[in-house]
Amino acid sequence: MSKHPETTSITAGRPEVAPGAAINPPIVLASTFYAGGSIGYGAYGNQTCTALEDAIAALEGGSTLVFSSGMAAVSALFSILPVGAPVVASNQGSIGVMTLLNSFHESGRLEVRFVDIVNTQLVIDAMKGAALVWLESPTNPCLDVAELETLITAAKKMGIAVAVDNTFATPLVQNPLAMGADIVMHSVTKFLSGHSDVLMGSLSTNDPALLNRLQDSRSFNGSIPGAFESWLALRGLRTFPLRFNKSQENAKELIIKLAAHPRITRVRYPGFGAIISFEVDGTAEQTQKVCESSQLIVHATSLGSIESLWERRRRWPMESLSVPEQLIRLSVGCEHVDDIWDDINLALASI
Ligand SMILES: *Cc1c(COP(=O)(O)O)cnc(C)c1O
Repeated sequence: MSKHPETTSITAGRPEVAPGAAINPPIVLASTFYAGGSIGYGAYGNQTCTALEDAIAALEGGSTLVFSSGMAAVSALFSILPVGAPVVASNQGSIGVMTLLNSFHESGRLEVRFVDIVNTQLVIDAMKGAALVWLESPTNPCLDVAELETLITAAKKMGIAVAVDNTFATPLVQNPLAMGADIVMHSVTKFLSGHSDVLMGSLSTNDPALLNRLQDSRSFNGSIPGAFESWLALRGLRTFPLRFNKSQENAKELIIKLAAHPRITRVRYPGFGAIISFEVDGTAEQTQKVCESSQLIVHATSLGSIESLWERRRRWPMESLSVPEQLIRLSVGCEHVDDIWDDINLALASI
């Protein structure tokens, strides 16, 4: 019987029950293994990675492979597509993925059809003849939300594979495999591990043949994570629902206060999760100053961690020009919400 994710996060990936056995998986430091077992060489697998994979699979469904970063997971997926394959993707999204897709498109490695994912009919029209639909929803950092169920159903009818980047929503909010998606991707770096101390990614699928191809891609591109990092990520995953739910509760309180603040012109929030993007009434420099003036909220990139983080996204030269100069992406942490709010007020008072 399947349990609630709050329970699964705590129990999944444990070693077999035996008197005297450790209740947590050991960190298996080995590049090679005695011949004849299920794992032969460290590039193909590792028991600590497997424990983490089992735990993520228990939350997302299907089977999971972990990678040395979210980008390594994305790269593994794109690498199995034929040269020139048509791919439908959002025209706005995570900076690394967008940069990779743009370069693949320019070089002819893939033919990427960039679309506005909130325009459901436009996305469906672009699907004709595509090899893959790549859906990041909500998008980073503009928090656009796709009608996932409708898009997945349409793609399935046309026989087109669908992959969903579920980093922002997490399996607590949506389960794309249950909606019929072929692949779910995570930057495990973010909410699943949650402590700003590990880079990791994952791909989950219900399709055993696809899983094999992705595992080969991981082995031959050398992108399996280390055992210690896998152990750290699993340790973080144990508290993922606790952290996510607390951060989300904080975020829901903060959006109301942010919307009423006279120096804030727009607040974006998809209705769930812990990421808020808001725009400051001021210049790019003033917005930058706000981010640099916080004392509690950490001025840093990344998201989904136990501590609150923020930054002006356009400080990155690679960020899409469609992201406003005055947009701050706030990843709400688990601190007391009043302390976060006081810090936001303090920082806004600096301009
Ligand atoms: C961070 C992120 C990625 C990239 O993952 P890394 O772990 O940084 O390599 C991909 N998609 C989304 C939505 C992200 O937030």
